[in-house]
Amino acid sequence: MKKMEKYLVIGDPIGHSRSPAMQNAAFQALGMGTPYGARHVTPGELPEFFEYARKNLLGVNLTVPHKLQAAELADSLTLRAEMCGSVNTLIISNGHITGDSTDGIGLQRALEYSFGEPLYGKRILFCGAGGAARATALHLAGAGCSGIFFINRTVSKAEELLELCRKHFPETEGAVSEPQDEKLCTELLEKCDYLVQATSMGLKSSDPLPLSEKYFHPGMKLRIFDTIYHPTAIQELAERLSLAWANGKEMLIRQGAESFRLWTGIEPDLDIMRKGFENG
Ligand code: NAP
Repeated sequence: MKKMEKYLVIGDPIGHSRSPAMQNAAFQALGMGTPYGARHVTPGELPEFFEYARKNLLGVNLTVPHKLQAAELADSLTLRAEMCGSVNTLIISNGHITGDSTDGIGLQRALEYSFGEPLYGKRILFCGAGGAARATALHLAGAGCSGIFFINRTVSKAEELLELCRKHFPETEGAVSEPQDEKLCTELLEKCDYLVQATSMGLKSSDPLPLSEKYFHPGMKLRIFDTIYHPTAIQELAERLSLAWANGKEMLIRQGAESFRLWTGIEPDLDIMRKGFENG
């Protein structure tokens, strides 16, 4: 690791990350050099990494598979991180490590920016119930979305997330379906305003759709947000059917911008971060 690095993104794997290019663009624009790097850390190495970070770093972003374990290892958690049990940002000050989660606000801002309307009162359908859905569903329920629905291969994981949303926001409408339940899936895709594709299906270019093509048709009001930021089968389908859609680029930028603000107290220039992302 280079001596000047005071901020890191860690994950397993990490080679693909666009965060260094994006964050360093924001730091550089403020005359703060390029203090942000990437490091491969396995789950077994995470406790040792926390001790390194405590002594040497000012901030960390965490990606798959560290977000849940980091919530256990941090000295304290912000309320939003404690509520969802997920941490993607560490803020380090005087040897104290605070864990926070900026994925939820990142998704909210990305949806509002990409589709040009506030989320208040909207129904959100998550496809997936893993770490990304956990970190964001509760935030959207708290941001005034009227319904949070899930379609997931493992139904019990989705039920647990819906229960978490309803524990904190009892008015939230919701339901859970498995991808093969044609009747319920059709109903949910018709009644919801947004589909948030939050499975890992699409990370490999050969991955099939996470949901059957028969559930989609031209003219449906559903807007599709794929958390993955490179081309995927669902993005291709949405384009082919002329449905409104966006990829996960803006979510990555917005969650990173919120981390940057937490570390520096400065709102970064989003256009500069977008350019950094494109160059990454
Ligand atoms: P995760 O915790 O591993 O969860 C994976 C999800 O994908 C689960 O719902 C899982 O279903 C489902 N899945 C995996 N393989 C499947 C298969 N063969 N068939 C059907 N479903 C399958 O991962 P994560 O952290 O939630 O990440 C999910 C996605 O979000 C990733 O693509 C990641 O790139 C993206 N993400 C993007 C951003 C951003 O800023 N743009 C931020 C965070 C995450 P089961 O529950 O049944 O296992």
